[in-house]
Amino acid sequence: MQKLLLVPFFLPVLAAQHPSTRDLAEINWMEFREWVPQKVTTVLLPTGTLEAHGVENNGADITAPLEIARRMAARVNAMIAPVVPYGVTGILDAYAGSFSISEKAYRAYMSDVLEGLARQGFRNIIVVNGHGGPQTAILNELAEQAGRAHHVRTLVVNWWVYCSDITLKTFGEDGGHAGWNETAFIQAIDPKLVHKERYSDNMATPRPADGSWSAYPFPSPIILYQSGQGYVRFDQAKAEAYLGRVTGKMTRLVQDTIDKWDKMGL
Ligand SMILES: [Zn+2]
Repeated sequence: MQKLLLVPFFLPVLAAQHPSTRDLAEINWMEFREWVPQKVTTVLLPTGTLEAHGVENNGADITAPLEIARRMAARVNAMIAPVVPYGVTGILDAYAGSFSISEKAYRAYMSDVLEGLARQGFRNIIVVNGHGGPQTAILNELAEQAGRAHHVRTLVVNWWVYCSDITLKTFGEDGGHAGWNETAFIQAIDPKLVHKERYSDNMATPRPADGSWSAYPFPSPIILYQSGQGYVRFDQAKAEAYLGRVTGKMTRLVQDTIDKWDKMGL
């Protein structure tokens, strides 16, 4: 006797609770259409640059916001846009492997990227910025313009400034560009990106007080926010605690901001 193979023809199609990927470069267009904007209205846009970073990788300003976006996406129900890796670097652009594009090109490109995300139906565009220098002011301005022009809600956040209280709490001192805090952040993501054996305190210079002096190129790739603080010490446990706390605080900011926009009917 032939055995009957029971084929479950009428399996109920269960609605998926989350998309198969949060990455806009990985999702298929048919799946995208099912999720955006009906069920996902937020997009995270990581931005960075290539710039000398002490003993970190030159792309630290790309590595950090990408990791924050990946850790945050499901928690705030967001998609992740491909990173914009090129940026407006500033006073460290003369260092080997550093790279800067013109402000004119950056403005034109970024405003088109923001418009494109708005056209896809995203209501909340969260720029997770990894690089300061001249880039922050440009991004703030472009995001505000995009919000006004395309009726979307935008947030630009510089993680290392927003989380400076966590730097103090974790390391007991302030940090710096490529200082202990930022180096720890990268060390926690991937220790291979941090070259401890190449480090010396001579690679760091305190940021000059406003109006005191200005040098181009800046004489060292590590720029301490305060004199005597932020020299890199390598502590994997502190690094991992820092990454977790920063990601937590960033996630809460995005969620709180979206909740308030919703409550205010914006
Ligand atoms: Zn950096």
